Amino acid sequence: MIVKALKFGGTSMANAQSIAQVRDVVLSDETARYVVVSAPGKRQPSDTKVTDLLIQLHGEQTEKGKREVMDVIEARFDDIVKGLDLDLDLSYDFKEIYSKVIGGASYDYVVSRGEYLSAKVLAKLIGYEFVDASEIIRFKGGVLDSEGTQQLAFSVLAKAKKAVVPGFYGLDEKGEIKAFSRGGSDVSGAIVARAVHASVYENWTDVDGFMVCDPRIVKSPEVIEMVTYRELRELSYMGASVLHPEAVFPVNVAGIPINIRNTFRPEAKGTMIVKYEDILRGKFARKSNVITGIAGKKNFVGIFLEKQMMNNEIGICKSLLDVLYENNISLEHMPTGIDTVTLVVDPTDDKVLAEAIAGIKERCKPTTLEVHKGLALIAVVGHGMNKMKGTAYRVCKALTDADINIRMIDQGSSEMNIIVAVEDEDYEKAISALYHEFVK
Ligand code: ASP
Repeated sequence: MIVKALKFGGTSMANAQSIAQVRDVVLSDETARYVVVSAPGKRQPSDTKVTDLLIQLHGEQTEKGKREVMDVIEARFDDIVKGLDLDLDLSYDFKEIYSKVIGGASYDYVVSRGEYLSAKVLAKLIGYEFVDASEIIRFKGGVLDSEGTQQLAFSVLAKAKKAVVPGFYGLDEKGEIKAFSRGGSDVSGAIVARAVHASVYENWTDVDGFMVCDPRIVKSPEVIEMVTYRELRELSYMGASVLHPEAVFPVNVAGIPINIRNTFRPEAKGTMIVKYEDILRGKFARKSNVITGIAGKKNFVGIFLEKQMMNNEIGICKSLLDVLYENNISLEHMPTGIDTVTLVVDPTDDKVLAEAIAGIKERCKPTTLEVHKGLALIAVVGHGMNKMKGTAYRVCKALTDADINIRMIDQGSSEMNIIVAVEDEDYEKAISALYHEFVK
């Protein structure tokens, strides 16, 4: 029997109108049995998310200040309940939350209450059982206890035919509420999907899916119809803001695809995230695009070193890496020549960088050492380039035609991404040139 797990983000849960859309999405699909929700998000750009109000509530020093913020939070939920014409009385919950706040409740408890209330509202609206996240999600030693959670969530949810679960939190070993980091309802959705052996994890948000590149650079870029977990990892590492990074793991291990959907345009198919192996096996078919997405980040630093006969010096790379490690600097790329090597490192503060450079000079004694700041890295990602001739040529040609100097180029043998470094000031122009070369 097909079972789906669905997660609705903050914009979908923002007000009565959007929650009515959520109801329509869920009730129009009888396989939509397990639903995870975020706290109400922004109703318009200048609005404040309920989670941010709760953070504020926790931080207020005076009882008067706390009462004022609590009133705002209560009003947001009252509006929702009224707007949906729901026969639901949250006043007992408000009282309990407020008295715990006054009694010095933990930060995690307070910030989790947005999801708690939001799930109560939706459960009532669609007639599903409310299953508290504290019944199914466990943390151990400060991190998610994946296996403990899997067993518990499986046994609890198997008994509930249809359930709404609040996202974002669970319980630690002391029985206290523990929240994930921001955006953590994505993780809760993935946990529920895995526990109920969902055929798909639908992650409902306010966009049509992942864009091929940053829409702030290219106007209305195409939506990626299908992306593999590995491609997604590359794209999100390079700055494409997508799901909470930990959300991918539970569903990826279970081989469950994720479908990013738009609550406000349910007719759009969204983006499917699948295993590459499942495409190879023919379980999913996708258009044969050379590339799937383009992403990048600015502000990297290149450290260029030259030393005569470096090629013959065993251990020089180890010394370089030791220096970076000792200074806690993350290495992104390391293209080498015969007697040269370039270290592309993550942005770091000038003092740490200066210490690392002094360390490199002392230990490696290079003849030349140059530091290039302001490098942008761009990843052109796609399994489609595997065994395909001419992708690197097209990357170089597109950038050359746009009059952009390539400062570094790197392609691993997995052949699913080509990374180029350009000057920060050429970053936007480069992304757009690559988009037009490979997409349209
Ligand atoms: N409400 C939480 C946040 O704003 C968690 C979530 O929405 O995923 O970060």
